[in-house]
Amino acid sequence: MCGIIGVSNHTEAAKIAFLGLYALQHRGEEAAGIASYDTENIHVVKNLGLVADAFGEPSLQGLKGTVAIGHCRYSTTGSSNIKNIQPFMAMHKGKPIAVAHNGNLTNTEELYKKLEEEGSIFQTTMDSEIFVHLLVRTRNGTMKDWVSKALEQVRGAYSVVFLIGDTIVGVRDPSGFRPLCLGKLEDGYILASESCALDLLKAQFLRELEPGEMIFIKGNQLESHRLPSMGTTRIAQCIFENVYFARPDSNIFNDNVYEVRKRLGSQLAKEHPVKEADFVMAIPDSGNYAALGYATELGLPLEVGMIRNHYIGRTFIQPSQFLRDFRVRVKLNPIRNVLKGKRVVVVEDSIVRGTTSRSRIEVLRNAGAKEIHMRISCPPIKYPCFYGIDFPSQKELIAANKSIAEIAKFIQVDSLEYLSLEGMLGVMKQSGNFCFACFSGDYPVKIPTNQSKYLLEETALKTAGRSEGLGT
Ligand code: AMP
Repeated sequence: MCGIIGVSNHTEAAKIAFLGLYALQHRGEEAAGIASYDTENIHVVKNLGLVADAFGEPSLQGLKGTVAIGHCRYSTTGSSNIKNIQPFMAMHKGKPIAVAHNGNLTNTEELYKKLEEEGSIFQTTMDSEIFVHLLVRTRNGTMKDWVSKALEQVRGAYSVVFLIGDTIVGVRDPSGFRPLCLGKLEDGYILASESCALDLLKAQFLRELEPGEMIFIKGNQLESHRLPSMGTTRIAQCIFENVYFARPDSNIFNDNVYEVRKRLGSQLAKEHPVKEADFVMAIPDSGNYAALGYATELGLPLEVGMIRNHYIGRTFIQPSQFLRDFRVRVKLNPIRNVLKGKRVVVVEDSIVRGTTSRSRIEVLRNAGAKEIHMRISCPPIKYPCFYGIDFPSQKELIAANKSIAEIAKFIQVDSLEYLSLEGMLGVMKQSGNFCFACFSGDYPVKIPTNQSKYLLEETALKTAGRSEGLGT
């Protein structure tokens, strides 16, 4: 997961990109970078850490030019390598090409093989670097033609912004897995992962890019084109963006994330009401909005049973059991006076491994909660994501290995229920346009052949059979 931004035709393009990244911080906390171009030189600053820490005043001053792209990176294991921070940049025929990418490509093995056989040398282990190699190879004719030829070779999930000389390009893959929106700021345009970045910049939200749309912005001129149609591709926007990942004040996939989460909570209450309860509470912040929808639907009081500490930063201390526990506890602290002797409905957005949920429930019990009924505002997550959400392998996904009753026992709740898949899709405005493979195993785009190590044997066999019929 990552956040991306592109800024065109602004005298302080890099500063605008920097400020926009603040609003996209939740999409990636590990590292951030910005590339800008002043028609003579490309300037790039990349650093580990939060956006506010990654750029100082002097480094921002050096990022000259009227076009810029920026990126914030999600931490995944083994990736804390400075080389892997985006934007990735290269020079070709005296002009820069830089890329900031959100999503995961699925045909990287084939592309690496082909490109390396043809002489490409890769500097990083990021699939995003592939874009640059493809772009320089197809560079012939109009920019629309060669960008389109390059992207035709790529499969999987990508919302991407390119800086190509003084042109900013934004593209959403044909399935539209990840969000990307377009805004207007003064005499230029902004591309951003989520609309909350436009709000912060006081830019006008124009629209989301369509799946398969490419936008070329040069100066104050904007052109929109479509990627060539790619076989059986269906629109498959990531439903988990709505459940957990995107910010609730963003509008993505033609809906408002806050309202979607409330509707999920309300649907959850219809499917799995707990009537004999003193109050509903959320696991903050991820469960807040579904808890509100749940409580409103049943007419139950909504209480705040845990307080989140927002000032944690990174704990670079070596993990010991005490410190692992400390990390979980430092984030959320229970309010004993609220919980003592009470029958509580605890709403959470999702369960992945189950380990955090188990710790949270233990904390609530120790604080005196008498009964704990847990309700989850999405179905059980049983399958890994190959399109950019950082889920562990199927072996580690608790719902792939345990029944709901067994999970309830593991987490130590009095009852546990999940929202149904039909219920979830039913509250979406465009229910046919989502990817929900993490719940169903129906992968809309063929998953990489070398990824079966992330799947349990039975799923690997099923997926291999089914992938044959998938066009992309
Ligand atoms: P756990 O009980 O350990 O499965 O943790 C559940 C919490 O982790 C929930 O608040 C989830 O929203 C949150 N979460 C959501 N997506 C992820 C993810 N990709 N990786 C780790 N945790 C996630």
